[in-house]
This record gives sequence, C-alpha cells and structure tokens, in this order.
Amino acid sequence: MRGRAEALRRLADETWDVLVIGGGITGAGVALDAASRGLRTALVERDDFAAGTSSRSSKFVHGGLRYLRSRDYGLVAQSVAEQRRLLRNAPHLVRPMAMRLPVAGGARRLVTGALLFTHDLAAGTGISRPVDGGIVFHEAQVDDARLTLAVLRTAVLDHGAVAVNACPVVAVDGEGVTVASGATARARVVVNAAGPWAEGVRALAGPGQAGPRLRPTKGVHVVVARERVPVLGDRCGLAVPDGRGAFAFVAPWEGRVIVGTTDTPYDGGAVECTDHDVELLLSKVNRALDDPLTPDDVLGSWAGLRPLVEGGDGRTELARRHLVAAGHEGMVTVVGGKLTTYRRMAADAVDVVCARLGRRIPCRTARLPIRGAGTGEGRLWLRYGTEAAGVERLGLGRPLVPGLPYLQGEAVWAVREEMALTLEDVLSRRTRATILDARAAAAAAPGVAALLAPELGWDEAETRRQVDGYLATTPSSR
Ligand code: FAD
Repeated sequence: MRGRAEALRRLADETWDVLVIGGGITGAGVALDAASRGLRTALVERDDFAAGTSSRSSKFVHGGLRYLRSRDYGLVAQSVAEQRRLLRNAPHLVRPMAMRLPVAGGARRLVTGALLFTHDLAAGTGISRPVDGGIVFHEAQVDDARLTLAVLRTAVLDHGAVAVNACPVVAVDGEGVTVASGATARARVVVNAAGPWAEGVRALAGPGQAGPRLRPTKGVHVVVARERVPVLGDRCGLAVPDGRGAFAFVAPWEGRVIVGTTDTPYDGGAVECTDHDVELLLSKVNRALDDPLTPDDVLGSWAGLRPLVEGGDGRTELARRHLVAAGHEGMVTVVGGKLTTYRRMAADAVDVVCARLGRRIPCRTARLPIRGAGTGEGRLWLRYGTEAAGVERLGLGRPLVPGLPYLQGEAVWAVREEMALTLEDVLSRRTRATILDARAAAAAAPGVAALLAPELGWDEAETRRQVDGYLATTPSSR
C-alpha cells in the first residue's frame, strides 16, 4: 500500500460521499461498510491506525461473560453473533480461547454452567464443561491493532476507499473537513468515529452538533512471561471474578501472558500504566494464582480509555451499548460499543449515512471476508493469512527484536504494504514488540530504525529522531 502522496491528492481532489474521522476499529469498520455499499469513502486518522483505544484492548472477541452476569441477554446475543461472524470472516486473525471460571458448587454452579453452555453453543467456539472448582467456557482472541488494519486494508484494497494516517482533522464544516496541513476534503456526510475523543471532534464543527457525552474510564494491562503462570495451557486462560460483576483475567497471547484489566475514572492527562495501576491489577489476579506476580515480572504494559457513553440527547438513537447520533445539519457520530461489535456499529452508522444521502443500500459486511481470510497454519499465517507468502518473499528472515518472534521482513512489509510511517508504528502496532517486551524493543530500536530508513527515506538525523521519539514515548521498563 504505497502511494501516500496519491492518497493525499485524492483526498483533496475528490468529493466523498462519506468522510470518516478516526482510524480505530470503529472508523475502519465504517469505512469498510460504506465502501462495500459502493459509497465513495475516505478516512483520516490523526496519529496511526489503531493508535487510540483499538490497540489497547484486552484482545478478546467477547461473547459477553460480563453481560451474562448483568442479565443483559440482548447484548450477549449481539456479541455472540458478531463473534461468530468474525471467526468466519477473519479466521486467520481470530481464534477461540478456552477460559476457566472458578465457580463454587451448588445451584450457582448449575445456573452458571447452563448459561455458559448456551453461550458456547450459540458462539460455536467450543463446548463448556465443568472442571474441578469451576467451568471452562470459550471466548475468542485477536490482535486488535492488526484486526483494525486488516479491516481498513479491506476497505482500501478491495473496495476502493482512501485512508490516510498522520492526518489530524482540525476543522469541520458543512462542506467537509480541513486537516492540519491546511488541505480540505469535500464530503457529503462526515462520520465522527474518534472514540474517546469524539466530543473534541464534535466541537470542531462548532456548537449545536448532536451527540452523546462521554465519560471515559482507564484500563491497564501488563504482560508477563509464560513460565510465570504455569497453570495456563497454550490456549486456556483464567477469568477472575472481582465480586462486583466484573472480571480480571490472565490469558496466553503471542507466547506470553496478558494480565488485565482495571477500570478506573479518567480525569484527563497522559493515558499511561502507573506503578499504582500495576499494583492494583496484580492484587486483583494474585488471589487466583498459587505463585503471585510482582511488578518485577512485568515485561510490557499498556493503558487505554473506554469510550463510555454517559447519556444521549433528544436526537440520539440508542443501539444497544453503542450510539449513533445525527444532527440535522451536522455530522454523524458513532461511539461506545466494543471491538467485538464494530461491524454492527458500523452498519448502524452507515444506515444513518445512507438515509442522509437519500439512498437505500443494504449492508454487505455480514459475510464479507477480511483481507487475508482463509485457512492455513504457521506463525506468519496467523498474522497475515493469505498474504503471508508476500512477507516470506521479501526474504528477510532474521529476527526483528531478539527474543520475539517477529522477522525483519515484517517491518519492511509494514512500510510497503501496511502504511507504517514511523518506528513506533512498526514496533507498537504492525508488530506488538513494545507491549510483549518493552526493554528488548527499546534495545532493538536503533537497528530497526536503520532497517526502515531506506524504505521511508530517512536521513541520519531523521533516523535518530525516530529512535529518540520512540524511546521517549514508550515505557521501556517497569
Ligand atoms: P479508538 O480506537 O480510540 O479510535 C479513535 C481514533 O480517532 C483514534 O485513533 C484517534 O487518534 C482518532 N482521532 C481523534 N481525534 C482525531 C482527529 N481530530 N482527526 C483524526 N483522527 C482523530 N472490546 C472488546 O470487544 N474486547 C475487549 O477485550 C476489550 N477490552 C478493552 C479493554 C480496555 C482497557 C479498553 C479501554 C477497551 C476495551 N474494549 C474491548 C473496547 C474497545 O477496545 C473499544 O471499544 C474500541 O477499540 C474503540 O474503538 P474506536 O475506533 O471507537 O476508538
């Protein structure tokens, strides 16, 4: 996917039916839904694709265990349906994962067992079963940043959309948007998919725009070595009830173990995983582990903001836990929801867009394969699917970061085919080196920058700047 200059030219020259602000999973989903309905579609992202919340989730494609507890069966059904679709449409990226839930005996175990059995049956991910002291049920796992990118690349490469990263929108008016370079893009409908920043983007269009108020909360995760939690199988995690209807969890991922998550109020400022967050998180899960984890075990961490919706106004249309809001003149805002339900969110939003355009075109994404979809084996296949052969053909089979499974060829592919523009794009989102082992990634950063320099035309000063920028913004040790 070379051709950023061409994408920027098209963005400015053409008139778009839909222009999407925000390149997280919601924006990527809207772009794919709109483009696959035949609408002329563009998307602009201020940072990198998935740099916001969509690379910072727990990486579950949820059936909705939490909502079973709160008896929100409608939401469970929606999540399970979307989980099933994702397993079918992106089988190379989404994989079932068994989870063990501790449940005491008696009536409670019977009821929970029956609910989880129904849940698993509907999802088609596996069959739940009682085990000593608990029940094993099934979720699915995904690399959130790669799913976002794959959805977006499907929109661009297979359905003709244009997508540009590092392109912040600074103003919105009735004609379209203005981006930071001063260039304008004309659009009939603007969709605000800026996640936790949606209120800020709405303000760019001036007062009077319809849309919900957001009250984001912060969630952190840490990564530890696989050997530190020997109770887990390769494809089995542990759900840890917190006694208040929510769950912490410990789950294998990419050869390591993810521990998550917290849910604390966010009052602005840097979105980072503090020492206090780590202590809070470990105290949640340690009661379920024989050998407690300590902060010294932490190899990597991340923090994200949940774009939670506080409430609506007279013109909002509540669609489960996500909201599509459309003012008479203004843009269409789509917020809330979760990674798992992005397709449904996008479909609801593009229905509103179509109504605004006066066109009736049905949604086509329910059975639409995500780029790379197919069945195969091997580590590269599980990240690139049918495109794995393209990565292999580059012939750069040396490790990118010592101790991690990524190859140099993946970094070059990221620049040539996946719109990576910076060292951080490559180490944090096209590969997940930063969160799997922050110190190893920091140590490898100069070598990776040297590999990327000829691809991206960096001179010595720019290469140094990339390394310094990466080291300054990513936590290299805890
Ligand atoms: P984002 O991914 O935040 O995207 C918004 C984008 O808008 C950003 O990239 C931002 O840079 C861009 N933007 C902002 N302003 C501008 C501008 N002016 N111009 C251009 N672009 C702009 N969901 C699940 O299904 N499963 C999970 O396991 C799960 N775990 C979670 C754990 C945590 C801790 C959190 C926080 C969330 C979790 N979620 C999970 C929810 C899920 O991650 C989010 O709902 C989803 O990623 C939100 O995507 P989004 O595209 O709406 O927002």
